[in-house]
Amino acid sequence: MTTLVDPFLRRIRYLRLSVTDRCDLRCVYCMAEDMTFLPRSEVLTLEELARVARVFVSLGVDKIRLTGGEPLVRQNLPWLVRELSALPGLRELALTSNGTRLAAAAGELRAAGLNRLNVSLDSLDPQRFRAITRVGDLDQVLAGLRAAREAGFSRIKLNSVILRGRNDDEVEALVEFAAREHCDITFIEEMPLGSIDEHDRAQTFMPSAEILERLSARFTLLPSTESSGGPARYYRLAGGDTRIGFISPHSHNFCASCNRVRITVEGRLLLCLGNEHSLDLRHLMRIEGCDDEGLREAIIRAMALKPERHHFDLHEAPQIVRFMNMTGG
Ligand code: SAM
Ligand code: SF4
Repeated sequence: MTTLVDPFLRRIRYLRLSVTDRCDLRCVYCMAEDMTFLPRSEVLTLEELARVARVFVSLGVDKIRLTGGEPLVRQNLPWLVRELSALPGLRELALTSNGTRLAAAAGELRAAGLNRLNVSLDSLDPQRFRAITRVGDLDQVLAGLRAAREAGFSRIKLNSVILRGRNDDEVEALVEFAAREHCDITFIEEMPLGSIDEHDRAQTFMPSAEILERLSARFTLLPSTESSGGPARYYRLAGGDTRIGFISPHSHNFCASCNRVRITVEGRLLLCLGNEHSLDLRHLMRIEGCDDEGLREAIIRAMALKPERHHFDLHEAPQIVRFMNMTGG
């Protein structure tokens, strides 16, 4: 089988597929309050999404994560999940959600073949949760998590972006919650994607090392050699099954082991989250009328564009003007 290898000999096995740029929340680090979303005609159709996924799996990609935006606001998402989960060679089909609509959707997604779930949760305090998400209702997310467990999702992973002065005093409570719920949890350093007027990223930046120090004062954390093949470094909570991960794009550069590419909601194959090198798959499909073989060849060629690393700097104006919801976080 032809596989995808970049100029730094990294084998690409993991595709993050953004299924919508829309969202029912407005997290302060992710979006501006007043967002203009893409017209539907510029967004890949479900059939196009299924097609590019199929081509990537034929090139050795064995893990796909559906993301956005909030994937659960996309109509007929279970159809896409069914199509992808049936692809021979796909080992893992995962989804990242803010959890607000999971209570209604978890059972159907599970039945459609979704096998991994990440749920974002930055605060356990309803008022704070509302402030960080601008509009969110914590109870909906907690109900979504319960429904997901009942539907049979195990080892759900919580994602928490920690912001100094906003939720940094909750890291212990978030770990205790994860342990109680038999979830894993990953703390993510904020990344400078898109500029948001009323939110100064340099002021709220909270390095992973500081979170680790706080947690180590309360819990026994055992360094783990486990890896999900992603950028997180893991610890295990002594006496339990909870894994605690840290994604630290600033303080611990993980690019050397990068095995992933992303497809934005308009069908741009993005070779790196922190750079703009890309290939316009929508143009190839819609305008050039490429068949699957043509797409495959273009994707193989595009691997040459994958940069060695990102260069995020919180103290400079963002070099990346797209927001996380466009990119597929
Ligand atoms: N809406 C879904 C959710 O919130 O889980 C999926 C998309 S969201 C963009 C994916 C992840 O990216 C979330 O865990 C979110 O917290 C994280 N995220 C968004 N903007 C970020 C930023 N600027 N820096 C770091 N993480 C960010
Ligand atoms: Fe929506 Fe997820 Fe962005 Fe929050 S992080 S605004 S939930 S896309």
